[in-house]
Amino acid sequence: MYYGINVVLIFILGLIVGSFSNVCIYRIPRNESIIFPASHCPKCRSNISPKDNIPLLSYILLKGRCRNCKSKISIQYPIVEFLTGLIYLIIYLIYGLSVQSLIYIILSSALIIIAFIDLNKQVIPEVISLPGMVIGLILSFFVPYISFINSALGVVIGGGIILIIGVAGSAIFKKEAMGGGDVKLAAMIGAFLGWRYIIISLFLGFFLGALAGIILILSKIKSRDDVVPFGPFIVLGSFITLLWGEKIISWYIGF
Ligand SMILES: [Zn+2]
Repeated sequence: MYYGINVVLIFILGLIVGSFSNVCIYRIPRNESIIFPASHCPKCRSNISPKDNIPLLSYILLKGRCRNCKSKISIQYPIVEFLTGLIYLIIYLIYGLSVQSLIYIILSSALIIIAFIDLNKQVIPEVISLPGMVIGLILSFFVPYISFINSALGVVIGGGIILIIGVAGSAIFKKEAMGGGDVKLAAMIGAFLGWRYIIISLFLGFFLGALAGIILILSKIKSRDDVVPFGPFIVLGSFITLLWGEKIISWYIGF
């Protein structure tokens, strides 16, 4: 079939970018360079040879342990690689070989990095969200599928919704529900996806976040006072919208 080889190549591209994303997820919140030094084991600091640095495969062959010191490698590494490959693949299947696909796969990688940094460190890195927002706005002048007005409205409405809910939430619950990091993240996604999609993304994010919160509390993994980072749910909502937004809208209108 026509798709055959491209599908494999796009998936492999995702795995490779996912492998680099792991480096970013580890180093950005620690303010380390994402280029130097070369990959090394976080425990014993020994360099990881190219043959032990193959996405997914090396993790399986090494049974999730460092070749040198045998300490456990986080399962997060293969998960990020596989997730990136999978999302690249679905974007390609929906949007084909297009500028839109290219921009969406770059956006997806930025969002995966942000989501995992937020999961690990409860912080959303401005070094990605702020330049990301500006890039999204600038790109809207050059791409056919989103206008500058739509992109700018996406920034204002995306950031605005989180800002209002955050302020109202801290007034009602006397604790910070959503921080400035979430505001900038929503603004960045709004710049790429426009006002309609960012509203759907955030709605899905709230819904999935609340659902996960209830499950985590009921299963006693988290208590009512624990903080569950919201960024990953905004990202999850955005992925669903980016991939199936038109389907969601026509389903809703059909009601
Ligand atoms: Zn080691």
